[in-house]
Amino acid sequence: MDEAGIDKSVACGFGWSDAELCREHNDYLLEAAERSGGRLIPFCTIQPSDKGARDDLKRWAARGARGLGELRPMSQGYSLIDSDEADLLSWAGDAYDLVLMFHASEPVGHAYPGKKGLPVEQLGRFISDFPGVSVIGAHWGGGLPFYALMPEMLDAMGRTYVDSAATGLLYSPDVVSRVIDLVGAKHVLFGSDFPLVSQAEALDALRAVSMDGEARALIEGENARELLRLADG
Ligand SMILES: [Zn+2]
Repeated sequence: MDEAGIDKSVACGFGWSDAELCREHNDYLLEAAERSGGRLIPFCTIQPSDKGARDDLKRWAARGARGLGELRPMSQGYSLIDSDEADLLSWAGDAYDLVLMFHASEPVGHAYPGKKGLPVEQLGRFISDFPGVSVIGAHWGGGLPFYALMPEMLDAMGRTYVDSAATGLLYSPDVVSRVIDLVGAKHVLFGSDFPLVSQAEALDALRAVSMDGEARALIEGENARELLRLADG
């Protein structure tokens, strides 16, 4: 973070299917966040199919989790359509003011390890079913913003953000300006995909894309500040 000139980062868990592994991961993440002097903002992981999930969510929220993610419903073995898991996640988002971050993947294009995470149609259903919950679709939402050209989908995206994590591995740099045109810079967050891509490399790539100063300020921090209710920095 110092090398890239980044003040604060969201550090995410991983969508393990094993609930105990999720707990172990969260303990580590929350301890690291506590030691960071506010520079690391923890997004905890959860296996919502586990019978202890509701109690876990309460505990992670009490210990300072600001979000849940990166969740991978398909790899973790549940669906976001008409499921108890979707109900539980949206409840937690609402009850504990947690942002839900999903690894979303494109139904087309090249295969890569970990592509399977959440088909874009499930992400689309979730934000339509639970429009009051703040959601981040990682990796440009698996293409979700392109459906913003459908009026009902644009309406459903009021609390939805997409992030730029792993852009260089997935898309041409044009994706940045195209998505801003489609959903507005207010719905785009800078993400790196660290440790796969360094923060400095990801930030350099974003800064090579031309955009106005207001859009850049939103994407590089202002959106996150508002979404995560950060008092400063
Ligand atoms: Zn991901």
